[in-house]
Amino acid sequence: MAPIPPSAAARDDETLLRRAFEVARRSRSHGDHPFGALLAGPDGEVLREQCNGYSSEGGDMTAHAERLLATWASRTHAPEFLARCTLYTSAEPCAMCSGAIYWAGIGRVVFGQTEKDLKAVTGDHAENPTLDLPCRIVFAAGQRPTEVIGPLLAEEAAALQADFWHEKKKGPA
Ligand SMILES: [Zn+2]
Repeated sequence: MAPIPPSAAARDDETLLRRAFEVARRSRSHGDHPFGALLAGPDGEVLREQCNGYSSEGGDMTAHAERLLATWASRTHAPEFLARCTLYTSAEPCAMCSGAIYWAGIGRVVFGQTEKDLKAVTGDHAENPTLDLPCRIVFAAGQRPTEVIGPLLAEEAAALQADFWHEKKKGPA
C-alpha cells in the first residue's frame, strides 16, 4: 500500500506557515525584527499578512506581528467569523500576543519556532527579551477554545533568526 499522504489540512498548514516565514524575511529586509504572521480565513484564503512593527511603529515594543494582526482582525471581523480563522506565525505567540489572539476570538494558531528556542537566540536583548511562556498555557486559561498546532517546520523558522540578534547586539559603531 502506498503511504498515506498528509491530509490536505496539514499540507495547507505548511504552505501557509511558509508564507508567514516569507513575511518574516520581508520584515527583516525592511529593518524590522524577523517575525511574520498572517491570518487565513475558513477556506485557507489569506486575509492579511503582517510584519513585525517595532521600527515601523516607532519603537513600539508591543508591535509584535501577531498583536498587530489580532487588533486588525478584531476591528475588521466578528468573533464568530474569527473563530473559524487560523493565525500563522513564524514564532510562538508570546503571552501578550496570545492574549490578543484570545480577545479577538481567533480560533486556531499555527506556529513555527517555540518561544523557548527563540529565547535561546535572543537572550535578554534589549529589543526582544523573549517572554517564554507556552501559548497553550495562556489559551488554556481562557473561556473559549483556541486550537494550537506547533512547533511546525521549526528548523526553517529558526533559520529566520540566524545571526540577527548577534549582529544587532554589536550595535552601531
Ligand atoms: Zn508577541
